[in-house]
Amino acid sequence: MSTQTAPHVPVRTTPFPGLPARFDGKEAEYLLDALKRNNLFYNQPDGYVSRLVKRGAEALNAKYAVATSSGTASIHAAIGAVGVEAGGEVITSPITDMGTCIAILYQNAIPVFADVDPHTYNITAASIEAVMTPRTKAVVVVHLTGNPADMKPIVELCRRKKVALVEDCAQGWGAKYHGRAIGNEGQVGAYSLNNYKHLSCGDGGLCIANDEQTYYNCHNFADKFYDRANKGVRLTGLAPNYRMSELQGAVALAQFDRLDAIVSKRRELGDRLSGAIRGVPGVEPPRTVAGGEPSYWFYMFRIDAARAGMSRDEFANRLNAEGIGCGKGYIAKAIHQEPVFQTKNFFAGGVWPAEVVAQRTYDYTKVRTPICDEVLATSITLSIHEGLSTGDVDDMAKGIRQAAGK
Ligand SMILES: *Cc1c(COP(=O)(O)O)cnc(C)c1O
Repeated sequence: MSTQTAPHVPVRTTPFPGLPARFDGKEAEYLLDALKRNNLFYNQPDGYVSRLVKRGAEALNAKYAVATSSGTASIHAAIGAVGVEAGGEVITSPITDMGTCIAILYQNAIPVFADVDPHTYNITAASIEAVMTPRTKAVVVVHLTGNPADMKPIVELCRRKKVALVEDCAQGWGAKYHGRAIGNEGQVGAYSLNNYKHLSCGDGGLCIANDEQTYYNCHNFADKFYDRANKGVRLTGLAPNYRMSELQGAVALAQFDRLDAIVSKRRELGDRLSGAIRGVPGVEPPRTVAGGEPSYWFYMFRIDAARAGMSRDEFANRLNAEGIGCGKGYIAKAIHQEPVFQTKNFFAGGVWPAEVVAQRTYDYTKVRTPICDEVLATSITLSIHEGLSTGDVDDMAKGIRQAAGK
């Protein structure tokens, strides 16, 4: 007689649904109308980009908004607008998109990396202060996964130290902090409209600001300092062309009709998943700070290997075997561990002008962000989006408990 073990039946045997149709609302109508208007330049009082910035400012609880060509452009315009001088240090997160660092580097400033909180994965007032120096000119907070950073103490710290504060909100459409959209605590909030964000027009971005001068600075920084807002300061500064065309503006404006539904669905699903896996030994759902309402660009949780009795990789393999497709970590390593930082290969010829101005050298091979490394080595990511149902997320939770052996 032979003994046979029953074949493993995964928690989930059917694939998860993908994103629902994203551009089937007013997008086509607006786009065709933009073409018919016979002028695709952004600076038309009744044009799509003009309507977009009004709608965007309103939706994001800000006084002003500026449309740009990307999230990277938005962050660059923000750094330009707050006036970071060459050779100045700008503190940011080591878990971010390269776009955050591009903005800093192109202004001839020096990225400095603060470590992250082990449960929100965001930088904190304490971690920022730990790397502050008299040369610190600005802080760029990244709201990773759309989970708001703990802003109140960061705002207080930046005020006290007289350094500018910019918020990278690229992953955080619809995320709130004490009832207001993220991006309103700092001088500028920078959003992305690239293909993968909650809202998209292919590529594009939005800056929000509440101070009039900061707004004009952003506006001019996104348009070669041509001062098309007519403040009579034409070509008083150096800036790139980060303009958004009417085509992107038309699609982006239509996208705003979806914002509330997308975000409330993601928040419902993400919060539900956290609730369902809380207390599973060795599983650590992400934490939310007081006043924070996350918008779950994706979902990231951590494995405590000692308590789980297995490594993150083994846990992720088990979860995949349960039919719950997941990723190991988010980015492969801290951004400052990438070759471009390790070799400081920023500009041709091996000269980094920021170091020349600062009259000091920076060595990214010596930068240590141990909590960031630990987070990236112990985290698992799941795709949470508006195409999923509560049942789908319940399957994810079931899979996680199954993988944990609970
Ligand atoms: C997407 C993203 C950016 C860059 O946005 P682009 O539109 O791709 O330039 C910057 N920072 C973060 C945190 C992002 O997720």
